[in-house]
Amino acid sequence: MQERVKIILKSGKEQSLRRFHPWVFSGAIKKMSGNPAEGDLVDVYDNKGTFLAVGHWAPSSIAVRVLSFEQVIPDISFFRDKIEKAIIYRKSIGLFDNRQINVFRLIHGEGDGLPGLIVDYYNGVAIIQMHSIGFYRIRTDIASILSEILKDKITAVYDKSEGTIPHMSGITPANEFLIGASDSAIVTENGYKFKIDWITGQKTGFFIDQRENRKLLETYTEGRTVLNMFGYTGGFSVYAMKNAALVHTVDSSLPAIELANENIRLNYGKDKRHESFQIDAFDYLNHIKDQYDLIILDPPAFAKHNNVLANALQGYKRLNIKAIEQIKPGGIIFTFSCSQVVTRENFRKSVFAAAANTGRNVRILHQMSQPPDHPVNIYHPESEYLKGLVIYVE
Ligand code: SAH
Repeated sequence: MQERVKIILKSGKEQSLRRFHPWVFSGAIKKMSGNPAEGDLVDVYDNKGTFLAVGHWAPSSIAVRVLSFEQVIPDISFFRDKIEKAIIYRKSIGLFDNRQINVFRLIHGEGDGLPGLIVDYYNGVAIIQMHSIGFYRIRTDIASILSEILKDKITAVYDKSEGTIPHMSGITPANEFLIGASDSAIVTENGYKFKIDWITGQKTGFFIDQRENRKLLETYTEGRTVLNMFGYTGGFSVYAMKNAALVHTVDSSLPAIELANENIRLNYGKDKRHESFQIDAFDYLNHIKDQYDLIILDPPAFAKHNNVLANALQGYKRLNIKAIEQIKPGGIIFTFSCSQVVTRENFRKSVFAAAANTGRNVRILHQMSQPPDHPVNIYHPESEYLKGLVIYVE
């Protein structure tokens, strides 16, 4: 077997690895014993030659994604063990053989000690998204491991990495089935039905991470007029329809609106309480003074990189100003950010600045996060990406 390239860190740059943070930034590297190809396994050492970690190499700002802090060989049995642990964890929190829920995240990158690998589970079909060439190279092994461990609980594995593999790698994967084939499914989330089309849908097909926040929303919708902004498949709308007076879903994408309508039909048949609008969120919010008493704001990530953070914070502020201005007195807003680079504190500051701009009294009812199938690695605060506030506007 070829010897792994050694990466030596600059003095002092080993601190974060000693605290088990799973990334090595390119700026921390002093020298390398060779020239690794993207996706190669590399060993990381401190300036004095002490072993720190082994991980996947990438010629980018995150240069090494750590797989282990022990001197092991990350071979197929290593990955099998990690995947099995991720599955055991989900079984232990009641996500398998659950009559109410058969859609959840099976592997959550750093949160499950597998940086660069995402797997979502849709009632028997696993959708894989690889964010690193290291995992892309072993995708068929990952699929086999999943099928071997899950046995009859899995019928197909689809690789949807076309949009997530780094551009710089020069590798242009095509989305494809690695095992079996199945292009859509009806899944159950907290007893509600959703049609999922992973082939044409956004991300792996569904925003699974909002499951618990949708459940919380359900408790506030009785008799209210609800506006679900950035509705996509109508996740929040379906929950709100349980007992709201009316529910409006807004999204700028037509396929999204069609999916939302279909999901409402699936759960409620034809129901006049629901209507959808294909329009830009900011335009829509200009014309709704006192029309709604519950508004959900779940926009796409406004910032994908740190260098656009300031713009993103402005974006959240602008959006929240509009909703806080327009909502009926005594209204409730569920407001979210799913940008990884926006911290919980920064997001709260944006909503605070928005509230101050309107001058209205605002109480915080709940602080929301991501569900336990999207676990946060305690050593990697960045894996806590979803944050939200429920606010009451007087
Ligand atoms: N709340 C959804 C997920 C939202 S994803 C859920 O629970 O599943 C973000 C959605 O915002 C996408 O469907 C996208 O089409 C929509 N979107 C993006 N920019 C928009 C804009 N300016 N106005 C309205 N919708 C927008």
